Amino acid sequence: MSERTMPLQPRAAAVLQLWKTMPGSADDGQVVRYLDQLLVHAHRVGASDLHFEPYEHLFRIRMRIDGQLSELDAPPLTVKDRIASRIKVLAKLDISEKRLPQDGRMRHSVGGQRIIDFRVSTLPTVFGEKVVLRLLNSGPALLDLDSLGYEEAQKAVLLQAIGRPWGMVLVTGPTGSGKTLSLYSALSLLNKAGLNISTAEDPTEINLPGINQVNINEKAGLDFALALRAFLRQDPDVIMVGEIRDLETADMALKAAQTGHMVLSTLHTNDAPSSLTRLCQMGVAPHNITASLALVTAQRLLRKLCVHCRQVRTPSKAALLQAGFAQEDLDGSWPVFAAVGCAQCHQGYKGRLGVFQVMPVSEDMQRLILQSASSLEFARQAAAEGVLSLREAGLRKVKLGLTSLEEVLTHTNDQAFFADARHALG
Ligand SMILES: [Zn+2]
Repeated sequence: MSERTMPLQPRAAAVLQLWKTMPGSADDGQVVRYLDQLLVHAHRVGASDLHFEPYEHLFRIRMRIDGQLSELDAPPLTVKDRIASRIKVLAKLDISEKRLPQDGRMRHSVGGQRIIDFRVSTLPTVFGEKVVLRLLNSGPALLDLDSLGYEEAQKAVLLQAIGRPWGMVLVTGPTGSGKTLSLYSALSLLNKAGLNISTAEDPTEINLPGINQVNINEKAGLDFALALRAFLRQDPDVIMVGEIRDLETADMALKAAQTGHMVLSTLHTNDAPSSLTRLCQMGVAPHNITASLALVTAQRLLRKLCVHCRQVRTPSKAALLQAGFAQEDLDGSWPVFAAVGCAQCHQGYKGRLGVFQVMPVSEDMQRLILQSASSLEFARQAAAEGVLSLREAGLRKVKLGLTSLEEVLTHTNDQAFFADARHALG
């Protein structure tokens, strides 16, 4: 039977037995206590999201840890509405509105001290409201470039770019690739009394004292372009635009970067070279790109191997070469580790680390932009300038035993592209 047609079953070997260990019947008090414990548990194990999903015969609760969803033991289906209502009360949502999606925020205190912030969203599905909680403050301590996983040389290039008085730095990657963490880390470094920093975000994920953070509110008409225009009237030094989605925002952000401001933003592209073609495709004039774009980075988050249970596994030379290792890498001086799994980790992994492509917009790159070059030509130029591809950056982490080959192969698929670029270089 394929996964598609398989009926959903509550997982037998569940991670959490919270509901079962709770005394009493499923009254409202139990729902409150259960939810309290679940929120604290999610925070303690470092989950990023909690999903409450009603189906016809099943109430499913899942939790995302290190990017992977896994299922928890769920309470009976009969309490799904009470759990949804309880969360809606905590998030001050309209409890009687069940036909339209809603979103909001809530805070939860642990032991009367530590506070966890959640972003809450509801969605009317066929069998009831699905509620997703995003845990917001799971890691302000991680806001430094070293712990994110930048190579030393990459960090130096990035620091030099954001340290310029003006220009634009773009961070690219798919949703969930950790772009926001990179931007916040950069902003934290710039966050000094001498600079006026403003950010427009959809929505803000971590509050940074000293930085003027604005939540985008499309419903009220406050979009990225409007926020950016307002920032420019407020004597800015550094501006962060959460995402460049359209030509108007792109043009305005690039012009702000040309007129004496450091502008940071993100784009949804696979890698750094294709961001340049993406901007051109959006309709941005090439000379506007060359006049202000200083650096483009791309990134992915990979799961880190658990050091307690990882095991040496030696793939064939052919497999390693195919993955992208060079012949000279295979000198037998380093082991390849694979994920196993133990009580201290989740499926052999614990925590995540970033892999990065950090691509300065050099003079040669500018020339290519003015010639409306293709992504492949940009990639060739980047390779010629020694810019690591995401795959190459990932393989370095495999060599260090930090992650598995599988993680790198799954999350970086630019190998064929770069092999082609390298081949063309001769
Ligand atoms: Zn382990």
